[in-house]
Amino acid sequence: MPATTMDQIVSLCKRRGFIFPSSEIYGGLQGLYDYGPLGVELKNNIMQDWWRANVYERDDMEGLDAAILMNRLVWKYSGHEDTFVDPLVDCRNCKSRWRADHVKGKCPNCGSTDLTEPRPFNMMFKTAVGPVADAESFAYLRPETAQGIFVNFANVLATTSRKLPFGIAQIGKGFRNEINPRNFLFRVREFDMMEIEYFVMPGTEDEWHQRWLDDRRAWWESIGVPRERITIYDVPKDELAHYSKRTYDLMYAYPDIGAQEIEGIASRSDYDLGSHSKDQGSLGIQARVNPNSHSTARLTYFDTATNRHLVPFVIEPSAGVGRCFLAVLSEAYDEQMVKAPPPEKLAAVADALAAFLKSVGKSEKISANARDAILDRGQTIAAGLPDALPQIETLLALPGADQIELGKKLRGQAQPLADEHFRTVLHLKPDLAPIKAAVFPLKRNHDGLVALAKDIRKGLQKSGRMRAIYDDTGAIGKLYRRQDEIGTPFCLTVDFQSLEDQTVTVRDRDTMAQERVAVQELEAYLEDRL
Ligand code: ATP
Repeated sequence: MPATTMDQIVSLCKRRGFIFPSSEIYGGLQGLYDYGPLGVELKNNIMQDWWRANVYERDDMEGLDAAILMNRLVWKYSGHEDTFVDPLVDCRNCKSRWRADHVKGKCPNCGSTDLTEPRPFNMMFKTAVGPVADAESFAYLRPETAQGIFVNFANVLATTSRKLPFGIAQIGKGFRNEINPRNFLFRVREFDMMEIEYFVMPGTEDEWHQRWLDDRRAWWESIGVPRERITIYDVPKDELAHYSKRTYDLMYAYPDIGAQEIEGIASRSDYDLGSHSKDQGSLGIQARVNPNSHSTARLTYFDTATNRHLVPFVIEPSAGVGRCFLAVLSEAYDEQMVKAPPPEKLAAVADALAAFLKSVGKSEKISANARDAILDRGQTIAAGLPDALPQIETLLALPGADQIELGKKLRGQAQPLADEHFRTVLHLKPDLAPIKAAVFPLKRNHDGLVALAKDIRKGLQKSGRMRAIYDDTGAIGKLYRRQDEIGTPFCLTVDFQSLEDQTVTVRDRDTMAQERVAVQELEAYLEDRL
């Protein structure tokens, strides 16, 4: 079963070092996160998969890696200086600030209806290039990677001799000064984006829009986000971005926050190439663009069939890596019962949970909001026992729960039972898994076992195609659990038989089945299954 709450994901990411709050030792900085040792592997694997599927496996794509800082004029003519604004409102009561479209007449923080009128707020970060901060040195951090592609359109065309239709793909950082970053990686201020600008003949854009919608949905499925968990939102005209003719938002059913945009697929017309071109009057541009008095280039395509220059139309699939990371983790997440807990121990947990919730209900130490959240979650868990038993840990991590004395007793009853009878497992697609194989010696103080295990790890790692690790810091059962929790598809154990016949046991993460494989054949065996 996929994750049912965001807390399950947050807690796993924290426990195992997928994600750290940025600058944590100084109290952090809101809306910014760092990817830890496992997080960086998963994130890189996601980006590589996207690149492979969209650049290598197609014959109509090129790649690009443009600078984050660009001439300010890019953002003037792209329309972002004027239009990349979110209207925001302030709550006069608690002084919090919100995007107007996230507030339904009352403050989401304190519930007050004493709100200011919406005011525009530009979400681009500003900086200065060079030693003197003045009007000349002023620059923005890019809020999307797309403009780097548009301004390089003529360069790519000239150096690759591409014919329409073709696309340019780019992965890179984008920065947005979000008014209210929240929901973990979902809304942050600095994030990686995976973007494609696909250039087509005017008049064929609707057909290509549909094809990209199909292709992108197939990709989401291929990385473990099932089709039925993504709905398509055909963005109404009055909500469209300034450049868009039509946009489909792919909405993934995230835990807690529900269906939210994971990718936007916009039909951007000839707006961007037209905006960045000189001599616009002679180019037959169909979008409404502002006159451009600075550009030195015509961003056009010479059509040999009609012997004329035209401005291509553009389809743009654009997805955030962090939102993808969250969806992939949510889908892969599973808390599995490996053997049924004894009824009397289960009954003791149920009693401890009931007593804890009763105490929460009566407590004056915690706020009403925190109390309701704990009670709500607690009742769902009580109704979902025994399967929901591992969720008691996340219940006890909710704000305010540590104020309740009976929480300790509940943890004391629930934790050993959860440890013994459940496992957390990430059913990640093997090619996304941060670590592909973990090698253990049956005994860590036996030189022969240790040497062979280390040798095997080194051999697998050498191929350059998989990250393999060695671990001897616990009993084998515990080491298995540890790898299950981070999605390692294969665990290899070196035992005494290995020393005699050069075979090891290979354990499969999902089925937990084990088989003996010759050390010589390990690499081929794993590659077959990865
Ligand atoms: P939203 O309406 O949620 O603010 P948007 O419509 O502004 O999103 P786009 O401009 O279409 O988003 O950006 C493309 C993609 O970049 C989104 O589909 C999303 O995956 C990602 N993205 C946008 N803003 C953020 C953010 N603040 N944090 C993380 N990812 C983001």
